[in-house]
Amino acid sequence: MPSDSSRSDRLARCRSGRRGALACLALLALILPRLGLSQAAPPPFVTTDDPRRVRIPANADDQTPAIVLRDGTLIDGTGSPPVANAVVVVRGDRILAAGPSGSVALPSGEYQLLDVSGFYIVPGLIDLHIHLAQQWKADDSQYQDSDAAAALRGARKLAALLDGGITTVRDVGTRNDVAFKLKEAVERRIFEGPRVFWAGKGILATGGHGDELRSGVSEASKGTIHSGGPYARIADGADEWRLAVREQIRQHVDLIKLFAPFSREEVSAAIAEAHAQRFRVTVDAFGQFTTWAIEAGADCIEHTLAMPDAAIAMMAQRDTALVPTLTTYHAGGLPPGGYYHDLHRSFEMTHAGNLRIVRAAHAAGVRIGIGTDMGFAGERHYPASYFTEAGFLRDAGLTDAEVLSGATRVAADILGMADKLGTLEQGKLADVLVVRGNPLADLRNLRNLVLLLADGRVVRDRRAALGVAP
Ligand SMILES: [Zn+2]
Repeated sequence: MPSDSSRSDRLARCRSGRRGALACLALLALILPRLGLSQAAPPPFVTTDDPRRVRIPANADDQTPAIVLRDGTLIDGTGSPPVANAVVVVRGDRILAAGPSGSVALPSGEYQLLDVSGFYIVPGLIDLHIHLAQQWKADDSQYQDSDAAAALRGARKLAALLDGGITTVRDVGTRNDVAFKLKEAVERRIFEGPRVFWAGKGILATGGHGDELRSGVSEASKGTIHSGGPYARIADGADEWRLAVREQIRQHVDLIKLFAPFSREEVSAAIAEAHAQRFRVTVDAFGQFTTWAIEAGADCIEHTLAMPDAAIAMMAQRDTALVPTLTTYHAGGLPPGGYYHDLHRSFEMTHAGNLRIVRAAHAAGVRIGIGTDMGFAGERHYPASYFTEAGFLRDAGLTDAEVLSGATRVAADILGMADKLGTLEQGKLADVLVVRGNPLADLRNLRNLVLLLADGRVVRDRRAALGVAP
């Protein structure tokens, strides 16, 4: 291999810097043809539709017939005023164009026309707090859980979510790799569902939230200390929290989920590790643990659990987002005078108090997204819970437009997906919801699903049932 040895010679000379530019140019002339850079341009790459942004070959599948939604009123999610008689053009999984009918070029060739006159076109909705795998609480003592059982429950929940117009979910704690397999099944079109972003197993300390032993919860279901069970990665000490983050990343998660209680060192190590590898972190915390998580750089806080006033100010200052999940505590019932759910929920909490926290966070400018925390048997109440949450956020002082943003643009931003999701603009992923009635006049109109596109495909069409000719 004479050319290789001569190349390394030249490389050494080039690095030495003594013989200067000539040696380097000669080296480039030798290497470039081998890399193919002087020939035809390489095929374009795009990135995966998740926060990992892994490069993948561009999808050549853009010869599928386009879809044209015509004559609806477009609320594109950017905050621009609604556009009457709008047209939205979709090809493959992308929005080719969206705007007033006169300004949008219709695709050449064949396309599927969907007349949505009289209806409103909004971005697909996002639920930021879901547990696709979680077992119904009443089943705990009756049925032995398994990954297969969890996957079946998850598939059922995904269908219920589509019924509500939800095209994206963030799973913040799953059983083993169940949420990942559900994500893949949707991507591979094994069945229809919202796109799934997942956090792997929650990371928590021994005896932390998710690892409490109480009557009715056996030691066996919790797994072992220093490794955890199917739902939890139990870790103690800063080094183990860092290792636990690395383990979740190794499983191809999209984000990291931490649970209080933890030490300052533990939460700081975990967040620093995740951020060093460009993963976002959301934290289920309460009281001073919330403050520590925000100080350590958490990207998002789940729930309003005993949140100190000072933490709210700190969130605004550091741009930490909030997913309040008011519905889950309201639906679960709040005992008068306090919320003594288990060891780590032993503090005063009322619906009125939770609303006050959200109102303060909103007034301070904290980004607020919608999440329902549909675990246990929550899907029995779906999709109503999503719209209950939207109503509670309104009760806490958000305008209808702000709640809609919390369900779309702001939620996509919290996911780290604002460039691909959350608004109906050229180049965005085609998650499109059509509803009857103006959601900006009355948020409850979001419930009146007429048509739903997920990833560029029609997954729900109720026009015939509504007496509108498809
Ligand atoms: Zn949860």
